[in-house]
Amino acid sequence: MLFPRNMAASDWSIPLIATASFCTVLCICLRFRRTRRTIWITLLSKIMARTEKPLFRIAYTLYTRTRLGYMYYKRQMRKAREQFPAGHSRAQSVEVNGIKIIPISVLSDNYSYLVIDTASSVAVVVDPADPQTVQAVLEEEGVMLEAILCTHKHWDHSGGNKGLQKLHSSCRVYGNATDNIPGLTHPLSDKDSVDVGRMHFKALFTPGHTVGHMIYLLDGGATGAPSSLFSGDLVFLSGCGRMFEGSASTMLSSLDTVSSLSDETLLWPGHEYAEDNLMFAAEVEPCNAARENKYEWVLQQRGQKLCTSPSTIGEEKEYNPFLRIHTTELHQALGLQQDSEEDWTLFRARVLEELRRRKDVYKRRF
Ligand SMILES: [Zn+2]
Repeated sequence: MLFPRNMAASDWSIPLIATASFCTVLCICLRFRRTRRTIWITLLSKIMARTEKPLFRIAYTLYTRTRLGYMYYKRQMRKAREQFPAGHSRAQSVEVNGIKIIPISVLSDNYSYLVIDTASSVAVVVDPADPQTVQAVLEEEGVMLEAILCTHKHWDHSGGNKGLQKLHSSCRVYGNATDNIPGLTHPLSDKDSVDVGRMHFKALFTPGHTVGHMIYLLDGGATGAPSSLFSGDLVFLSGCGRMFEGSASTMLSSLDTVSSLSDETLLWPGHEYAEDNLMFAAEVEPCNAARENKYEWVLQQRGQKLCTSPSTIGEEKEYNPFLRIHTTELHQALGLQQDSEEDWTLFRARVLEELRRRKDVYKRRF
């Protein structure tokens, strides 16, 4: 390797040492091929736990665009099965007029949801991250899996698509085409319908967490039940997903879609984050009585490892700071004020950006 003539010894010694170190690590990795995979996954795990932007962007790209992401997900699944052999939470099913919703506890804090039309014994599953666990529930219920509704590409939501497809060859996989969803057979656009048995779902395009994130609204009208929203990583109990692939304006528009739904709509999010999220909400709205009451209830539930879903959209509007972007209380808590010339939507996007930034610093979670 040639170095420029005017480079001083101390200047070229740094790249030389760096190159030598890299070659040494590479040799060790090549010498121990099995160890190499573990080293990469361990490194990815460590970086994924950080939120400093440049490091996180590298890890996020590796996670979403390379096989390392899949290996990382498989490792997380193995670890979760060891740590929580009976699941991270105990969940109860809800059945109204023959439509049954079963939250399935998977990985370390995810939920998949099995939705069954009991009259025809056909089922749909939302985000089947762990195919083995979902398959066990399908067998227990004795139902036929007709469709997978995938909210987005992250492995902890889409990782089980292909495994279930192998077991159920006629199973359709729905999602947005821009999100590179494994096994996708039926690409969806905003407000498309998916009908299985007596179950009617409307897909809503809600980018921000990822470019092609979708949420699914099960219409309760046909059976006289409240509607149910499967919100993936857009909205959680008292929280919202991180804005990995969209601006605050994009995310705000997606959150507005959720706010526009009827207050009775049941919310079934993709993760069990209720306790952490309500603690963060206390930081920004310490005097919110609805939040305090919900927190007491959540502590009781989590004390027994019980699932905290579903809440309702009406409830969320009372304590979820990400659905309260318009409130004066939140503006004051964040020290933000609308400028005289500032557009209301742009101002709300600024509020969301600041709120999300504070949450990212508060807890380093997805
Ligand atoms: Zn996600």
